[in-house]
Amino acid sequence: MRTQTSLRDVSLNLGLPKPLEMMSDEEILRKVVIGKVFTRTLKSLTTSFLDEDFDWLLPVIFSKSTDPLWPDPGSSIEKRIETEIYGETVRTTLSMIVHKMVACSLAYPKLFTLSPNVRVEKRERKSTGWHAYEFSQLDFEVRGASSSAIRSLVERVVIKLVEDLRKGCEAELTQLGQYDVLKIPKSPFKVFDREELEKEYGGSWETLLPKVIKEPVWVVNIPREFYDFEEVTGRWDNYDLIVPKYGEVLSGAKREWEYNKILKKIERDGIRKENFSLLLKLSKEGRLKQTAGAGIGVERIVTWIVGANHIGEVQPFPKIPGIVNEL
Ligand code: ATP
Ligand code: ASP
Ligand code: MG
Repeated sequence: MRTQTSLRDVSLNLGLPKPLEMMSDEEILRKVVIGKVFTRTLKSLTTSFLDEDFDWLLPVIFSKSTDPLWPDPGSSIEKRIETEIYGETVRTTLSMIVHKMVACSLAYPKLFTLSPNVRVEKRERKSTGWHAYEFSQLDFEVRGASSSAIRSLVERVVIKLVEDLRKGCEAELTQLGQYDVLKIPKSPFKVFDREELEKEYGGSWETLLPKVIKEPVWVVNIPREFYDFEEVTGRWDNYDLIVPKYGEVLSGAKREWEYNKILKKIERDGIRKENFSLLLKLSKEGRLKQTAGAGIGVERIVTWIVGANHIGEVQPFPKIPGIVNEL
């Protein structure tokens, strides 16, 4: 007879996630159960942002300007997708960071979007179990907010999510063997400075930290793209949320808004200015405002909740680096 947690064992034989049409009945059953948790996750996350008075924007696919994903050492993509429409070069969304900064500055003081990101990750990343080449961010931004206000907001959202799922998905979490594993995190989450982590764990802190924590934690002060705020001391006012066993599920920051600083950082990073001409123009005119926000990797947070072996397991159509299925 099937035990209550037997769907967890199904995943042990999975290897890399298969497309739907190649799955056994038992594997499809596991997919269906994960799908229920995914649906309720979307309901909880979007409800939390709506309850906090955010505007919900629909995402974009093509733009002249998108995230440079550089020089963050975490980003490793083997191809950038550019195409031409109406005689103009456009790029598929790497993240909606530029749109968020502009929309939040000019029109929507509190906004979120569920945004598809296409990142053609290096093919060796298929075995991290943590990278897909198409995924979604719940990306949000708040005008005038501090980093600590954003971290508190995220803590409320994550705690509410676990509470909602423990109530609304008890049967599913039990079947997946996760009901007793997934505890309601306690606020405030611990905060680690990246410099301290480097002293303790060296350069591999990103892989080592998830192995020693029992609850989600913050890591702050991480050098990365020009749009995250850098203080005069060289300290970065940004943050990642790290979950046990897996790793990063969110990145965010207070943003740069001053023209001279943005220009210097773009030049320092060796990025093409013309790809960010609107941000530069708005900042020069004083129309870019100080904002802060973050993006939650939706498939990653579900992977953590359901205890999946590979992020492709939570996607109806797995987008595993290096593997292109028909759907
Ligand atoms: P990592 O270092 O883990 O590869 P990153 O720092 O390059 O991630 P960000 O640019 O910070 O990723 O993207 C914002 C969020 O989007 C991440 O915190 C993560 O939750 C999610 N994300 C990023 N890349 C992927 C991916 N390839 N597959 C699934 N989710 C991703
Ligand atoms: N969503 C991230 C942020 O808000 C940006 C990214 O996708 O890297 O900082
Ligand atoms: Mg990141």
